[in-house]
Amino acid sequence: MPISSFHPTHNDNPNPVGQAIDPPGFCLSPDPPGDPPGDRPGGDLSNQELHDLRQALLRWYGESGRDLPWRRTRDPYAIWISEIMLQQTQVKTVMPYYDRWLKQFPTIAHLAQADQQQVLKAWQGLGYYARARNLHRAAQMILAEHGGEFPQDLSSVIALPGIGQTTAGGILSAAFNQAVPILDGNVKRVLARLRLIEVPPRQAIKTLWQISADLLDPQQPRDFNQALMDLGATICTPKNPACLLCPWNDRCLAFQTNMQNELPVSEKRAPIPHKQIGVAVIWNDRKQILIDRRKPEGLLGGLWEFPGGKIEPDETVEDCIRREIQEEIGIAITVGDRLITIDHTYTHFRVTLNVHHCQYVSGEPQAIECDEVRWVEVAELEQFPFPQANVQIIEAIKQQRQ
Ligand code: SF4
Repeated sequence: MPISSFHPTHNDNPNPVGQAIDPPGFCLSPDPPGDPPGDRPGGDLSNQELHDLRQALLRWYGESGRDLPWRRTRDPYAIWISEIMLQQTQVKTVMPYYDRWLKQFPTIAHLAQADQQQVLKAWQGLGYYARARNLHRAAQMILAEHGGEFPQDLSSVIALPGIGQTTAGGILSAAFNQAVPILDGNVKRVLARLRLIEVPPRQAIKTLWQISADLLDPQQPRDFNQALMDLGATICTPKNPACLLCPWNDRCLAFQTNMQNELPVSEKRAPIPHKQIGVAVIWNDRKQILIDRRKPEGLLGGLWEFPGGKIEPDETVEDCIRREIQEEIGIAITVGDRLITIDHTYTHFRVTLNVHHCQYVSGEPQAIECDEVRWVEVAELEQFPFPQANVQIIEAIKQQRQ
Protein backbone atom coordinates (compact mmCIF):
# COMPACT_ATOMS: atom_id res chain seq x y z
CA MET A 1 0.00 0.00 0.00
CA PRO A 2 1.67 3.24 -1.03
CA ILE A 3 2.19 5.61 1.84
CA SER A 4 0.99 8.42 -0.37
CA SER A 5 -2.48 7.02 -0.28
CA PHE A 6 -2.77 7.08 3.49
CA HIS A 7 -4.92 9.84 4.79
CA PRO A 8 -2.64 12.68 5.68
CA THR A 9 -4.07 13.65 9.03
CA HIS A 10 -2.49 10.82 10.83
CA ASN A 11 0.65 9.66 12.37
CA ASP A 12 2.49 7.11 10.29
CA ASN A 13 3.68 5.35 13.37
CA PRO A 14 1.47 2.27 13.61
CA ASN A 15 -0.58 2.38 16.75
CA PRO A 16 -1.86 -1.14 17.16
CA VAL A 17 -2.86 -0.74 20.78
CA GLY A 18 -4.70 2.48 20.06
CA GLN A 19 -2.89 4.48 22.67
CA ALA A 20 -2.55 8.20 22.30
CA ILE A 21 0.12 8.93 19.75
CA ASP A 22 2.44 11.86 19.36
CA PRO A 23 3.26 13.30 22.75
CA PRO A 24 2.01 16.85 23.13
CA GLY A 25 5.57 18.10 23.12
CA PHE A 26 4.90 21.25 21.13
CA CYS A 27 4.57 24.57 22.81
CA LEU A 28 4.04 28.00 21.45
CA SER A 29 7.14 29.59 22.90
CA PRO A 30 9.86 30.17 20.30
CA ASP A 31 12.28 27.73 21.85
CA PRO A 32 10.72 24.85 23.72
CA PRO A 33 12.66 23.96 26.84
CA GLY A 34 14.35 20.61 26.88
CA ASP A 35 14.98 20.32 23.15
CA PRO A 36 17.96 18.12 22.53
CA PRO A 37 20.88 19.85 20.82
CA GLY A 38 20.26 20.17 17.15
CA ASP A 39 16.49 19.86 17.48
CA ARG A 40 15.80 23.31 16.08
CA PRO A 41 17.03 23.12 12.50
CA GLY A 42 14.84 25.23 10.33
CA GLY A 43 12.41 25.93 13.14
CA ASP A 44 12.31 29.70 12.93
CA LEU A 45 10.26 31.47 10.33
CA SER A 46 9.85 35.22 10.02
CA ASN A 47 6.43 36.81 10.21
CA GLN A 48 6.62 37.62 6.52
CA GLU A 49 7.46 34.01 5.67
CA LEU A 50 4.62 32.76 7.84
CA HIS A 51 2.20 35.13 6.18
CA ASP A 52 3.31 34.19 2.68
CA LEU A 53 3.24 30.46 3.38
CA ARG A 54 -0.25 30.63 4.89
CA GLN A 55 -1.63 32.69 2.04
CA ALA A 56 -0.10 30.49 -0.63
CA LEU A 57 -1.36 27.29 0.96
CA LEU A 58 -4.88 28.58 1.57
CA ARG A 59 -5.13 29.89 -1.98
CA TRP A 60 -4.02 26.54 -3.35
CA TYR A 61 -6.49 24.72 -1.08
CA GLY A 62 -9.32 26.91 -2.32
CA GLU A 63 -8.52 25.82 -5.86
CA SER A 64 -7.35 22.22 -5.36
CA GLY A 65 -8.60 20.93 -2.00
CA ARG A 66 -10.28 17.52 -1.96
CA ASP A 67 -14.01 17.15 -1.45
CA LEU A 68 -14.28 14.54 1.32
CA PRO A 69 -17.49 13.52 3.12
CA TRP A 70 -16.17 14.41 6.57
CA ARG A 71 -15.40 17.91 5.31
CA ARG A 72 -19.08 18.51 4.62
CA THR A 73 -19.99 18.32 8.30
CA ARG A 74 -19.13 20.17 11.48
CA ASP A 75 -20.37 17.31 13.65
CA PRO A 76 -17.42 16.49 15.92
CA TYR A 77 -18.61 12.91 16.29
CA ALA A 78 -18.56 12.27 12.54
CA ILE A 79 -15.19 14.03 12.20
CA TRP A 80 -13.79 12.00 15.09
CA ILE A 81 -14.94 8.75 13.45
CA SER A 82 -13.28 9.76 10.18
CA GLU A 83 -10.04 10.72 11.95
CA ILE A 84 -9.81 7.37 13.70
CA MET A 85 -10.76 5.33 10.64
CA LEU A 86 -8.18 7.16 8.55
CA GLN A 87 -5.30 6.23 10.84
CA GLN A 88 -3.25 3.80 8.79
CA THR A 89 -6.05 3.39 6.26
CA GLN A 90 -6.59 4.74 2.75
CA VAL A 91 -9.29 7.30 2.06
CA LYS A 92 -11.01 5.12 -0.52
CA THR A 93 -11.11 2.18 1.91
CA VAL A 94 -12.58 4.33 4.64
CA MET A 95 -15.41 5.91 2.58
CA PRO A 96 -17.91 3.00 2.72
CA TYR A 97 -17.06 2.21 6.33
CA TYR A 98 -17.63 5.84 7.32
CA ASP A 99 -21.06 5.94 5.70
CA ARG A 100 -22.13 2.58 7.13
CA TRP A 101 -20.85 3.45 10.59
CA LEU A 102 -22.81 6.69 10.80
CA LYS A 103 -25.96 4.89 9.68
CA GLN A 104 -25.47 2.14 12.26
CA PHE A 105 -24.27 4.42 15.09
CA PRO A 106 -25.59 7.88 14.22
CA THR A 107 -24.70 9.51 17.54
CA ILE A 108 -22.24 9.14 20.36
CA ALA A 109 -25.05 7.70 22.49
CA HIS A 110 -25.82 5.01 19.90
CA LEU A 111 -22.18 4.00 19.83
CA ALA A 112 -21.79 4.06 23.60
CA GLN A 113 -24.83 1.84 24.08
CA ALA A 114 -23.93 -0.68 21.36
CA ASP A 115 -22.58 -4.11 22.18
CA GLN A 116 -18.82 -4.41 21.65
CA GLN A 117 -19.37 -7.30 19.24
CA GLN A 118 -21.54 -5.05 17.05
CA VAL A 119 -18.82 -2.41 17.09
CA LEU A 120 -16.10 -4.88 16.16
CA LYS A 121 -18.29 -6.35 13.41
CA ALA A 122 -18.84 -2.87 11.94
CA TRP A 123 -15.06 -2.38 11.99
CA GLN A 124 -14.26 -5.77 10.45
CA GLY A 125 -11.78 -5.36 7.60
CA LEU A 126 -10.33 -2.00 8.71
CA GLY A 127 -7.68 -3.59 10.92
CA TYR A 128 -6.05 -2.16 14.05
CA TYR A 129 -9.09 -3.20 16.06
CA ALA A 130 -7.93 -1.35 19.15
CA ARG A 131 -9.21 1.71 17.32
CA ALA A 132 -12.76 0.33 17.41
CA ARG A 133 -12.52 -0.74 21.03
CA ASN A 134 -11.18 2.70 21.96
CA LEU A 135 -13.94 4.48 20.03
CA HIS A 136 -16.47 2.43 21.94
CA ARG A 137 -14.88 3.14 25.33
CA ALA A 138 -14.43 6.82 24.49
CA ALA A 139 -18.09 7.13 23.50
CA GLN A 140 -19.07 5.63 26.85
CA MET A 141 -16.77 8.12 28.61
CA ILE A 142 -18.26 11.04 26.68
CA LEU A 143 -21.74 9.90 27.64
CA ALA A 144 -20.79 9.50 31.30
CA GLU A 145 -18.54 12.52 31.73
CA HIS A 146 -19.61 15.06 29.10
CA GLY A 147 -23.34 14.45 28.83
CA GLY A 148 -22.92 12.88 25.40
CA GLU A 149 -21.41 16.03 23.86
CA PHE A 150 -17.97 15.74 22.30
CA PRO A 151 -15.64 17.87 24.48
CA GLN A 152 -14.21 21.06 23.01
CA ASP A 153 -11.08 21.51 25.09
CA LEU A 154 -7.81 19.89 24.17
CA SER A 155 -7.06 18.31 27.53
CA SER A 156 -10.45 16.58 27.66
CA VAL A 157 -10.10 15.36 24.08
CA ILE A 158 -6.65 13.82 24.51
CA ALA A 159 -7.85 12.19 27.74
CA LEU A 160 -10.14 10.00 25.61
CA PRO A 161 -8.78 6.58 24.68
CA GLY A 162 -7.19 6.36 21.26
CA ILE A 163 -6.88 10.12 20.70
CA GLY A 164 -3.37 11.58 20.54
CA GLN A 165 -2.23 15.11 19.96
CA THR A 166 -2.48 15.13 16.17
CA THR A 167 -5.89 13.45 16.10
CA ALA A 168 -7.13 15.95 18.68
CA GLY A 169 -5.79 18.79 16.52
CA GLY A 170 -7.53 17.34 13.48
CA ILE A 171 -10.87 17.09 15.28
CA LEU A 172 -10.78 20.41 17.13
CA SER A 173 -9.70 22.39 14.11
CA ALA A 174 -12.13 20.70 11.71
CA ALA A 175 -15.15 20.68 14.01
CA PHE A 176 -14.69 23.88 16.01
CA ASN A 177 -12.19 25.89 13.97
CA GLN A 178 -9.81 25.89 16.93
CA ALA A 179 -6.16 26.78 16.34
CA VAL A 180 -4.70 23.42 17.37
CA PRO A 181 -1.83 22.14 15.23
CA ILE A 182 -1.47 18.70 13.70
CA LEU A 183 1.56 16.53 13.03
CA ASP A 184 0.81 13.23 11.37
CA GLY A 185 3.27 11.32 9.23
CA ASN A 186 2.48 13.24 6.06
CA VAL A 187 2.73 16.60 7.79
CA LYS A 188 6.09 15.61 9.27
CA ARG A 189 7.31 14.86 5.77
CA VAL A 190 6.09 18.19 4.34
CA LEU A 191 7.57 20.23 7.18
CA ALA A 192 10.86 18.33 7.21
CA ARG A 193 11.24 19.20 3.53
CA LEU A 194 10.01 22.76 3.84
CA ARG A 195 12.57 23.50 6.57
CA LEU A 196 15.29 21.09 5.42
CA ILE A 197 15.39 19.00 8.58
CA GLU A 198 18.15 16.53 7.96
CA VAL A 199 17.53 14.13 10.83
CA PRO A 200 14.77 11.51 11.11
CA PRO A 201 11.51 13.21 12.15
CA ARG A 202 11.49 11.28 15.42
CA GLN A 203 14.63 13.16 16.42
CA ALA A 204 13.14 16.55 15.57
CA ILE A 205 9.67 16.05 16.92
CA LYS A 206 9.52 19.19 19.05
CA THR A 207 10.80 21.32 16.22
CA LEU A 208 8.23 19.85 13.86
CA TRP A 209 5.42 20.52 16.32
CA GLN A 210 6.72 24.03 16.71
CA ILE A 211 6.76 24.63 12.97
CA SER A 212 3.24 23.24 12.63
CA ALA A 213 2.05 25.49 15.47
CA ASP A 214 3.86 28.54 14.05
CA LEU A 215 2.53 28.02 10.56
CA LEU A 216 -1.07 27.40 11.59
CA ASP A 217 -3.19 30.33 10.49
CA PRO A 218 -4.94 31.60 13.63
CA GLN A 219 -7.70 33.14 11.50
CA GLN A 220 -8.44 30.01 9.48
CA PRO A 221 -7.15 26.98 11.41
CA ARG A 222 -9.76 24.61 9.97
CA ASP A 223 -8.87 25.33 6.37
CA PHE A 224 -5.17 25.57 7.08
CA ASN A 225 -4.91 22.14 8.69
CA GLN A 226 -7.06 20.58 6.00
CA ALA A 227 -4.89 22.23 3.36
CA LEU A 228 -1.72 20.93 4.98
CA MET A 229 -3.18 17.43 4.95
CA ASP A 230 -4.05 17.73 1.29
CA LEU A 231 -0.63 19.06 0.39
CA GLY A 232 0.98 15.99 1.97
CA ALA A 233 -1.49 13.61 0.39
CA THR A 234 -1.52 14.93 -3.15
CA ILE A 235 1.59 17.05 -3.83
CA CYS A 236 4.33 16.48 -1.29
CA THR A 237 4.13 12.71 -1.61
CA PRO A 238 6.77 10.33 -0.24
CA LYS A 239 8.22 9.61 -3.67
CA ASN A 240 8.62 12.11 -6.49
CA PRO A 241 6.81 15.06 -4.90
CA ALA A 242 5.18 17.35 -7.45
CA CYS A 243 7.26 20.37 -6.45
CA LEU A 244 6.52 22.30 -9.62
CA LEU A 245 2.84 22.33 -8.65
CA CYS A 246 3.46 23.09 -4.99
CA PRO A 247 2.31 26.42 -3.54
CA TRP A 248 5.32 26.38 -1.23
CA ASN A 249 8.05 25.73 -3.80
CA ASP A 250 9.44 29.26 -3.64
CA ARG A 251 10.00 28.90 0.13
CA CYS A 252 10.81 25.22 0.38
CA LEU A 253 14.42 24.64 1.43
CA ALA A 254 14.43 21.05 0.20
CA PHE A 255 13.24 22.05 -3.26
CA GLN A 256 15.73 24.88 -3.46
CA THR A 257 18.57 22.50 -2.67
CA ASN A 258 17.13 19.58 -4.67
CA MET A 259 16.84 17.51 -1.52
CA GLN A 260 13.12 16.73 -1.77
CA ASN A 261 13.74 13.08 -2.59
CA GLU A 262 16.26 12.62 0.24
CA LEU A 263 13.93 13.93 2.96
CA PRO A 264 12.62 13.08 5.41
CA VAL A 265 15.60 11.06 6.57
CA SER A 266 14.37 7.55 7.27
CA GLU A 267 15.26 5.59 10.35
CA LYS A 268 16.85 2.22 10.02
CA ARG A 269 14.37 -0.40 11.12
CA ALA A 270 15.13 -3.95 12.18
CA PRO A 271 13.49 -6.58 9.98
CA ILE A 272 10.20 -7.71 11.47
CA PRO A 273 9.98 -11.29 12.75
CA HIS A 274 8.07 -13.97 10.89
CA LYS A 275 5.95 -16.48 12.82
CA GLN A 276 4.61 -19.78 11.55
CA ILE A 277 1.18 -20.49 13.01
CA GLY A 278 -0.85 -23.72 13.00
CA VAL A 279 -4.62 -23.11 12.76
CA ALA A 280 -7.42 -25.63 13.23
CA VAL A 281 -10.82 -25.70 11.54
CA ILE A 282 -12.32 -28.25 13.93
CA TRP A 283 -15.45 -30.07 12.78
CA ASN A 284 -17.80 -32.13 14.94
CA ASP A 285 -20.17 -34.83 13.72
CA ARG A 286 -22.97 -32.27 13.31
CA LYS A 287 -20.92 -30.37 10.71
CA GLN A 288 -20.33 -27.51 13.13
CA ILE A 289 -17.03 -25.65 13.53
CA LEU A 290 -15.38 -24.60 16.78
CA ILE A 291 -14.44 -20.92 17.09
CA ASP A 292 -13.08 -18.97 20.04
CA ARG A 293 -13.19 -15.34 21.13
CA ARG A 294 -9.90 -13.69 22.02
CA LYS A 295 -9.43 -11.95 25.32
CA PRO A 296 -10.69 -8.34 25.17
CA GLU A 297 -7.39 -6.48 25.12
CA GLY A 298 -4.27 -6.73 22.99
CA LEU A 299 -3.89 -7.52 19.32
CA LEU A 300 -7.26 -8.42 17.78
CA GLY A 301 -8.81 -8.37 21.25
CA GLY A 302 -12.49 -9.35 21.39
CA LEU A 303 -12.49 -10.81 17.88
CA TRP A 304 -13.40 -14.40 17.05
CA GLU A 305 -10.93 -16.74 15.40
CA PHE A 306 -10.14 -20.29 14.51
CA PRO A 307 -7.98 -21.67 17.30
CA GLY A 308 -4.28 -22.42 16.93
CA GLY A 309 -0.87 -21.12 17.86
CA LYS A 310 2.79 -20.72 17.11
CA ILE A 311 4.72 -23.63 15.68
CA GLU A 312 7.70 -24.38 17.90
CA PRO A 313 11.13 -25.16 16.43
CA ASP A 314 11.30 -28.75 15.13
CA GLU A 315 7.53 -29.14 15.49
CA THR A 316 5.36 -30.17 12.55
CA VAL A 317 2.24 -28.18 11.72
CA GLU A 318 0.10 -31.16 12.72
CA ASP A 319 1.86 -31.61 16.09
CA CYS A 320 1.53 -27.89 16.77
CA ILE A 321 -2.19 -27.87 16.06
CA ARG A 322 -2.85 -30.93 18.26
CA ARG A 323 -0.82 -29.43 21.12
CA GLU A 324 -2.31 -25.94 20.86
CA ILE A 325 -5.88 -27.20 20.80
CA GLN A 326 -5.25 -29.38 23.84
CA GLU A 327 -3.63 -26.46 25.70
CA GLU A 328 -6.06 -23.73 24.63
CA ILE A 329 -9.36 -25.57 24.53
CA GLY A 330 -8.75 -28.86 26.31
CA ILE A 331 -9.97 -31.22 23.61
CA ALA A 332 -8.41 -34.00 21.54
CA ILE A 333 -8.59 -33.79 17.73
CA THR A 334 -7.20 -35.47 14.68
CA VAL A 335 -5.52 -33.21 12.12
CA GLY A 336 -6.55 -33.70 8.49
CA ASP A 337 -5.86 -32.04 5.16
CA ARG A 338 -4.49 -28.58 4.68
CA LEU A 339 -7.27 -26.11 3.85
CA ILE A 340 -5.29 -22.99 3.01
CA THR A 341 -2.04 -21.14 3.76
CA ILE A 342 -2.29 -17.41 4.40
CA ASP A 343 0.46 -14.83 4.73
CA HIS A 344 -0.46 -11.76 6.69
CA THR A 345 1.56 -8.78 7.88
CA TYR A 346 0.91 -6.92 11.10
CA THR A 347 2.80 -3.85 12.21
CA HIS A 348 5.57 -5.60 14.09
CA PHE A 349 5.56 -9.11 12.65
CA ARG A 350 4.47 -11.30 9.77
CA VAL A 351 2.59 -14.54 10.12
CA THR A 352 1.98 -17.54 7.93
CA LEU A 353 -1.22 -19.31 8.91
CA ASN A 354 -1.08 -23.04 8.11
CA VAL A 355 -4.76 -23.94 8.26
CA HIS A 356 -5.90 -27.57 8.49
CA HIS A 357 -9.24 -29.29 8.70
CA CYS A 358 -9.47 -31.19 11.99
CA GLN A 359 -11.93 -33.63 13.48
CA TYR A 360 -13.14 -33.40 17.07
CA VAL A 361 -12.41 -36.58 19.05
CA SER A 362 -13.05 -36.09 22.77
CA GLY A 363 -13.22 -33.68 25.71
CA GLU A 364 -15.43 -30.74 26.62
CA PRO A 365 -14.29 -27.49 24.92
CA GLN A 366 -13.18 -24.96 27.51
CA ALA A 367 -12.12 -21.30 27.23
CA ILE A 368 -8.69 -21.84 28.77
CA GLU A 369 -6.67 -19.20 26.90
CA CYS A 370 -9.57 -17.26 25.40
CA ASP A 371 -12.84 -15.72 26.58
CA GLU A 372 -15.37 -18.02 24.96
CA VAL A 373 -15.63 -21.05 22.69
CA ARG A 374 -18.60 -21.93 20.54
CA TRP A 375 -19.72 -24.54 18.01
CA VAL A 376 -21.32 -22.79 15.04
CA GLU A 377 -22.78 -23.67 11.66
CA VAL A 378 -20.84 -22.49 8.62
CA ALA A 379 -23.74 -20.18 7.73
CA GLU A 380 -23.50 -18.53 11.14
CA LEU A 381 -19.84 -17.54 10.81
CA GLU A 382 -20.69 -14.23 9.16
CA GLN A 383 -22.45 -13.03 12.29
CA PHE A 384 -19.19 -12.85 14.23
CA PRO A 385 -16.38 -10.27 13.93
CA PHE A 386 -13.24 -12.00 12.65
CA PRO A 387 -9.79 -10.62 11.77
CA GLN A 388 -9.18 -10.27 8.05
CA ALA A 389 -6.93 -13.33 7.78
CA ASN A 390 -9.69 -15.45 9.35
CA VAL A 391 -12.21 -14.05 6.87
CA GLN A 392 -10.04 -15.64 4.18
CA ILE A 393 -10.31 -18.95 6.01
CA ILE A 394 -14.11 -18.64 6.05
CA GLU A 395 -14.12 -17.96 2.33
CA ALA A 396 -11.94 -21.01 1.74
CA ILE A 397 -14.31 -23.18 3.80
CA LYS A 398 -17.29 -21.97 1.79
CA GLN A 399 -15.54 -22.43 -1.54
CA GLN A 400 -14.59 -25.97 -0.68
CA ARG A 401 -18.16 -26.81 0.23
CA GLN A 402 -19.53 -25.57 -3.11
S1 SF4 B 1 8.29 22.17 -2.87
FE1 SF4 B 1 8.28 19.98 -3.06
S2 SF4 B 1 9.32 19.19 -1.26
FE2 SF4 B 1 8.81 21.31 -0.86
S3 SF4 B 1 6.86 21.22 0.24
FE3 SF4 B 1 6.39 21.47 -1.93
S4 SF4 B 1 6.13 19.39 -2.75
FE4 SF4 B 1 7.15 19.24 -0.75
